[in-house]
Amino acid sequence: MQCKCGGVLIEGKSTYRTSKKNFSFILENIPAFKCMRCDEVTFSEETMSKIQRLVNNIERDSNEIVTGQASVNLYDY
Ligand SMILES: [Zn+2]
Repeated sequence: MQCKCGGVLIEGKSTYRTSKKNFSFILENIPAFKCMRCDEVTFSEETMSKIQRLVNNIERDSNEIVTGQASVNLYDY
């Protein structure tokens, strides 16, 4: 696996951060690849899709807390 800058990626752990309207989300010790040359961190597609699912869940539930309205009917359970 190689970085887009051509540097070598090494396997390690990293922290994922994102900020949404109602919350900030930080997940630590996520398996990630880091470029030896430019320090850019890359997550695998599988990891990203798992994180995305988690963020979506939190977004939905935090909306429910903020608005006081259950969102169950809007989503497939
Ligand atoms: Zn790089």
